[in-house]
Amino acid sequence: MTTILATWREPGKVAVDAAWQAQESGADLKTIIELGLAACELDPELLAIGLGALPNADGELELDAAIMDGADLSAGAVCAMRGIVPAISVARKVMEETRHVMLAGDQARRFAIAKGLRPQNLMTTENCRRFAEWQKTPEGTTDSYHHAVDGNNHGDTVTMLGLDSTGHMIAASSTSGLQWKLPGRVGDSPIVGAGIYADDEVGCAGATGLGEELWKACASFRTVEGMRRGLSPLEACQDTVRHMKRRQKHATDMPCVVLALGKDGTFGAATTQGEFPLWISKDGVQELVVYRAEDVA
Ligand code: ASP
Repeated sequence: MTTILATWREPGKVAVDAAWQAQESGADLKTIIELGLAACELDPELLAIGLGALPNADGELELDAAIMDGADLSAGAVCAMRGIVPAISVARKVMEETRHVMLAGDQARRFAIAKGLRPQNLMTTENCRRFAEWQKTPEGTTDSYHHAVDGNNHGDTVTMLGLDSTGHMIAASSTSGLQWKLPGRVGDSPIVGAGIYADDEVGCAGATGLGEELWKACASFRTVEGMRRGLSPLEACQDTVRHMKRRQKHATDMPCVVLALGKDGTFGAATTQGEFPLWISKDGVQELVVYRAEDVA
């Protein structure tokens, strides 16, 4: 049995559908997850990540992505990379084809081009329209938090967790970051330990939401370590959210979400605020589970 988790209602569905297609064609777990995220990044209709996502305060898309392999804790990431999709494929190349963990900005782009990816304009008619709309509104300061959660449908990030029948785990995420972010700003998503973490000894975890707070909490690492101490994935997520609410005064400014998948296939998630929809696919059988802030006592 292969279990795949993907965040947010709208892009998460695209991710689990593409992941199942990849699984059916015989891909390994790393490729299943990469293709799940790549499908979201390449879909111009999705406002969450990649092509057509919501840009920064300059009207430019700066993408972050990361992948971690629970077998040996290897990891690769890119941040603030412009004009290249899928960013997750570049992150995978950083992991597999360099001795580094992260490449940033124009040099990440240069690396991607050297590896054969084609630079392209990621702005579409729809995200240009939304950007122009945002520019008219006085609430649009670059240092305030905005989150692309229209009824919790799309978010700004897709985080995926996977477990295959051998007990191997992969965690990965791809994001356009918070919409209208300060140019150059990088959140939790490409940061190993913050946005993702995977360790085949225990389980894997990921995050989405207000990246500054999730990063300060080392949310994904904290959650995996909770499972190492014996908590279930759900309990470990709730423990991280409780810790954030107790220690971080901005933890409830916006949803801060953690999700986790245990070695035994159990899973869970928790949010500091609002509702969070999570897709679970077990050998292609999909279910959407909604977690609520009230669930965390
Ligand atoms: N965590 C992402 C960031 O702060 C945004 C999100 O998950 O929606 O960049």
